[in-house]
Amino acid sequence: MAMYRAPLRDMSFVLRELAGIDDIAKLPGFEETVEVLDSVLAEAAAFAAHVLDPLNAAGDRAGCTWKDGEVSTPAGFKDAYRQFAQAGWIGLPVATEHGGQGLPQLLLGAVLEMWNAANVGFANGPLLNQGAIEAIELVASDALKKTYIPRLVSGEWLGTMCLTEPQAGSDLAAVRTKAVPDGDRYRVSGQKIFITFGEHDLTPNIVHLVLARLPDAPEGTKGISLFIVPKVLVQADGTLGERNDVYCAGIEHKLGINANPTCTLNYGEKSGGAVGYLVGEVNRGLEYMFIMMNAARFSVGIQGLGIADRAYQSALSYAKERIQSRDIAAGAPQPVAIFRHPDVRRMLMSMKAQIEAMRALAYVTAASLDRAQKSPDAAVRGERAAFAEFMIPVVKGWCTETATELCSTAVQVFGGMGYIEETGIAQQYRDVKIASIYEGTTGIQAADLVGRKLLRDRGASAAKIGADIAAFARTLDGEDADIVAIKIELERGVEALGATSSWIQASATRDLNAAFACSVPYLKLWGIVAGGWQMARAAQISVARIAAGDPEAAFYRAKLATARFYADHVLSQSSWLQHQIVNGSAAVMRLTDDGYDLDRRTLARV
Ligand SMILES: Cc1cc2nc3c(=O)[nH]c(=O)nc-3n(C[C@H](O)[C@H](O)[C@H](O)COP(=O)(O)OP(=O)(O)OC[C@H]3O[C@@H](n4cnc5c(N)ncnc54)[C@H](O)[C@@H]3O)c2cc1C
Repeated sequence: MAMYRAPLRDMSFVLRELAGIDDIAKLPGFEETVEVLDSVLAEAAAFAAHVLDPLNAAGDRAGCTWKDGEVSTPAGFKDAYRQFAQAGWIGLPVATEHGGQGLPQLLLGAVLEMWNAANVGFANGPLLNQGAIEAIELVASDALKKTYIPRLVSGEWLGTMCLTEPQAGSDLAAVRTKAVPDGDRYRVSGQKIFITFGEHDLTPNIVHLVLARLPDAPEGTKGISLFIVPKVLVQADGTLGERNDVYCAGIEHKLGINANPTCTLNYGEKSGGAVGYLVGEVNRGLEYMFIMMNAARFSVGIQGLGIADRAYQSALSYAKERIQSRDIAAGAPQPVAIFRHPDVRRMLMSMKAQIEAMRALAYVTAASLDRAQKSPDAAVRGERAAFAEFMIPVVKGWCTETATELCSTAVQVFGGMGYIEETGIAQQYRDVKIASIYEGTTGIQAADLVGRKLLRDRGASAAKIGADIAAFARTLDGEDADIVAIKIELERGVEALGATSSWIQASATRDLNAAFACSVPYLKLWGIVAGGWQMARAAQISVARIAAGDPEAAFYRAKLATARFYADHVLSQSSWLQHQIVNGSAAVMRLTDDGYDLDRRTLARV
């Protein structure tokens, strides 16, 4: 089974040459970034390779166990978590005043990619913990901050996000968990399902961030508040006291990510209400969750990228070892490694190119989040925030859907052995699927892109980003055949974005169903064109480096070839997606109510 090794050279190319980490490091508060960049990346790569990767397959096989409300994680996870916390990884993006290192989101993106590639079952814990820290940091009272943040940052305790209930999945307006005032705290009762790391043996306390309703709260999204509900109550001196009334009623049997527990949590079943503390103001819980969701959605997009890269590494290594069939061009009778066959190379190149595009778009989006937060220039802050807001659903939706396709391609490279668990590639295929479901399904990301990002500002952000891509495409000049081909496809892609954005806006005034019917293809179009934009930037840089006699010319030639492949095989899908959206949206709603052309009685007779 191939081991995961972080692609440090590729990451460094994107960080430095596309996302501009040197400029990010000049922003106030990020000055230490350049100094620590290489060591952070190298240490993260070593931790991923030597601590997390060896537990990946074993954790998947062993899974978690539930007994009488207690949950055990697979062997080795507790120790890995202890090392992870001790090394200070949890505090990487957390502000220094809260005990973190205050490093940029951009650097966090690269590190998250490594954790998720090496062991997504493990990585989910810190991912959600980070959301919990942000929520408390952002809106909680000073007393709650003081009690919880230092221990969540040190890793002594782990945070969760408790949103989902049986009747409230995509639609959180349907949340029913109750919170009743009880002096200066609340009593929380109800049930949450599907809670990642809702119960475990990694830490002695678990800090649940829970969405619940006060008795007099308005219906719908405007009546939801956010609470901290610790597993064990914290005493005035900071030590752990009584067990709180939140218990794990069971864990799910899942398709993948078996190394982390997905829990059903019952609140207030034993003593009439788990003790909870209000975070921020009443009835603003969903608003707070949405602020954090940006970071969580970005992180899940990166999760898809990481798993896809791991799958690519395995497929590449297998393709070089597996001997099968003769070389069609060489004419020699001996069978060769499947890597030599053109169709296997197509599959590998397709993976490589789309992984590079996802990485580039995700890191560039992360850099925008950093500029939106720290740039001294208000106009830059506003402009970068608008870009990041627009791109987050694209990074989440497009990266996770593409990653799912790429993991399927990786299984295909393995042939029959891919379908057999022992080669390990089946695990990536199973693990990756959840990324396009949790933190908002792709349908929800696409609805956000069309509803909140495109229609709400009447297409202003879409038009601005489209104009930026078009302006860049005009700078792609010269004789290089690859650049000429890339420019043609990028310009077609921008046209498709403009045409589909206008069509959706016009349709929305007449028929909202038609406007939303192809929101997922629209999100995909944004992904492949914005990813293609970054690949074209990489190609332009590469041509200049090669011309200047760069000692790493081979690296840049490979970048150029990959960008050309992407233009012809992926970016070229823009015209097809445009057709699908503009000409095919109406047909979507023609699915008959029973899902068949014939009614069921007729079908039964057939
Ligand atoms: C392994 C795992 C871990 C999880 N971890 C957590 C966690 O830690 N915390 C937590 O709170 N939750 C967690 N979840 C829950 C997860 O976030 C939800 O499953 C997810 O948001 C989808 O909700 P649902 O399952 O109810 O699907 P539904 O909402 O029933 O959706 C079903 C389908 O309908 C579509 N759909 C629904 N509404 C719309 C709409 N308005 N427009 C277009 N399409 C729509 C969806 O896109 C989807 O295709 C986890 C789930 C799993 C499986």
